[in-house]
Order: sequence, then C-alpha cells, then structure tokens
Amino acid sequence: MKKDKLKSGFMKMLKEIFVDKYNCIACDTELCEPTRYGLCDKCYGKLEFTGDNICKKCGRIQNNEADFCLTCQEHAREFDFSRSCVVYNDIAKDIVRGIKFGHKKYFGKYLAAYITDRYDKDFSSVSIDCIIPVPLTRKRRKERGYNQSEVIAKHLAEERGIPMDASLVVKIKDNKEQAKLTGKEREQNVLGVYEVSRKDDVKGKTFLIIDDVMTTGSTLSEIAGVLKKAKAKEVFGLTFASTRYKLQGENLVLEEEYYEDQMV
Ligand SMILES: [Zn+2]
Ligand SMILES: [Zn+2]
Repeated sequence: MKKDKLKSGFMKMLKEIFVDKYNCIACDTELCEPTRYGLCDKCYGKLEFTGDNICKKCGRIQNNEADFCLTCQEHAREFDFSRSCVVYNDIAKDIVRGIKFGHKKYFGKYLAAYITDRYDKDFSSVSIDCIIPVPLTRKRRKERGYNQSEVIAKHLAEERGIPMDASLVVKIKDNKEQAKLTGKEREQNVLGVYEVSRKDDVKGKTFLIIDDVMTTGSTLSEIAGVLKKAKAKEVFGLTFASTRYKLQGENLVLEEEYYEDQMV
C-alpha cells in the first residue's frame, strides 16, 4: 500500500515535471504522444510554412512573383541570404511568446526542429563553419535567464554537428525596443549595437546567424555587417518565423501589428 502511494506520488511528480512536454506548445491541449513540432494537429494546420515563393534575399514569403521583397529592394543587405520556416502569424507568435516571455525554455527544442528542417532544405550544400545566435545584452540575458536564439541554435548545432559560438558577436548596448519603432528607425536603432569579440576567429569563415523572428531584417543585416567587416567569407541567416507584407489600400506594408512584442 505504502509502496503504491509512493509510486503514485512519484508519478505525479514526474508528470508535473514533464507534462508540459506532451502538451501542444501553442494551445496547451494534451497530446497522446510528443510531436516533432510540439503542436496538436489543429495548431499545426494554422502554421503557414514559407515554402518556395519567398524573397530570394531575406526569405520572407512573397505574395507576388518578384524576386525580392520591398525591404530588400530598398535596403542594402549585408547577409548573403536568409531563410525562415514559417510566417509570423498568430500561431507562430504564440509559440515565440512562450519561449521569449513565458519562460518556456524547452520550446527551443521544438523551434529547432523547424529550423533544422529548413536548414536541410537550404543549407545542406553550404559549408557553414560556425553558428551564431543573435546575442542579447548581458542585462537582458540575465533577466530572461537564457537567450532564446542561443537555445535554438545549440540544438541545431548539436543535430548537425556544426560548432556554435555564442560569444563571438556581442551586443554592446541595449538599443530601444525595436517594437516601438518604424522600419527606418529600426535600421538606425541597430547601428553600432553589435561587435565582434575575436576578429581572428572570423576571417575567411562562413557563418549562419540564428534568430527566432525576422521582421525588417535589420538585426540580421547589422550582425552580418560586423562579421563581413571582420573579413568573414559568407554570412547567412535562418530564423523560425518572418513577417510578411500585406496590402493596405493599394500599398504593400509589413504587418505592423506583429511588431508589438519584438523586444530583443
Ligand atoms: Zn494546439
Ligand atoms: Zn526580402
């Protein structure tokens, strides 16, 4: 009797520790078994994979046949190209919020599953020397307890046997929250924010920068810029989600509503 009680107590404890891992990471529905992407069928159906009709430079989904999105047509891009897995729609936003603001560090494993699949699609023929997560300032990292991009990047690095270096690029000052800024302001906001810590480790090498979300792409471009300045051979980007353009009247605009929680 006592043994049974002990056993059930132990099982309860285990369940409390592990139960989240078997719930849908977006709607929390209990899953019969863990899924690769961490989602129930219903939530999975709401994802919009970026697929192949994308901007050839930054990888965001395109709703026309142009090779490049408006942002890439109008701005210099320091990265060679970037890709993302899904459109930053409501369901993707829920997932990103979970890891970023909900202390769900274990989401990283699932986000890495999307990233690893897209990596295999677009980067398997590229020889990446080193994976770089988009860094947080030390202060922000301390507040959150971890850097979500680093958690995701670490899984990819382990899965594909590529070195990851989370200290090669450092964030030297806390820029204003990107969320509250316009595209133009965002671009200026990231200037001088990142720095290469060991230039000797950059020269002649090919890098892959990992982040959770790409909005304008100015963060990726800025980091690629500091790596290129330190003589990197090539710099690519890969993010879980990216914002898309939508029609507002007759104009295409980036979905501004998705900017609200773009805290870096
Ligand atoms: Zn769900
Ligand atoms: Zn683009």
